[in-house]
Amino acid sequence: MATKKKDNRAPVGLVCSVCKSFNYITEFNKMNETQKKQQGEDPTFPLKKFCPKCNKRTEHKLAKKLK
Ligand SMILES: [Zn+2]
Repeated sequence: MATKKKDNRAPVGLVCSVCKSFNYITEFNKMNETQKKQQGEDPTFPLKKFCPKCNKRTEHKLAKKLK
């Protein structure tokens, strides 16, 4: 069967940059980011996401550690 390849995805948290609340868990693909940088595209993060605490869309930053 298929062998599990070591990929570059890592689970990361997204934190609201306004109220610092931990709102989302997503998968971060390092390869994608590197490629985007090389192609001069905008990085994925920070992301505009809805924050229930702020009750509006705010910028969400990567949290270093998952809680
Ligand atoms: Zn917020």
